[in-house]
Amino acid sequence: MNIFFDIQGTLLNEQGDPRPNAREVLLKLAGTDHGVYLWSTAGEGYAAEAARFLGVEDAIKGCCLKRHPPEGIAVDYAVDDDEGVVEEYGGYLVVPYGGDPSDGQLLGVLEAIQASEPG
Ligand SMILES: [Mg+2]
Repeated sequence: MNIFFDIQGTLLNEQGDPRPNAREVLLKLAGTDHGVYLWSTAGEGYAAEAARFLGVEDAIKGCCLKRHPPEGIAVDYAVDDDEGVVEEYGGYLVVPYGGDPSDGQLLGVLEAIQASEPG
């Protein structure tokens, strides 16, 4: 499935610090048959910058403006700290990341996706 990750509050906090496990979880999902995308209300350029910062630019399928997936690509699953986005597309609502080094929200995302897979 095509999984779209929000950036601000989901993968990074307001200071731009990465959430624990961000890179690992993105790489793990991208290494399966899932298509992983980063999107942001701040636009495709910002999402691409975040992908480079996280070191996942070669692993993910693409970056785009929030709610504007690449043509022909369905949004199957959204990971976001904005309840409206998760309600709209389905997916996983995370608590906005503030900087807690013991934060385990993205491991919860990984578990939820793996649990939803057949077999
Ligand atoms: Mg957000």
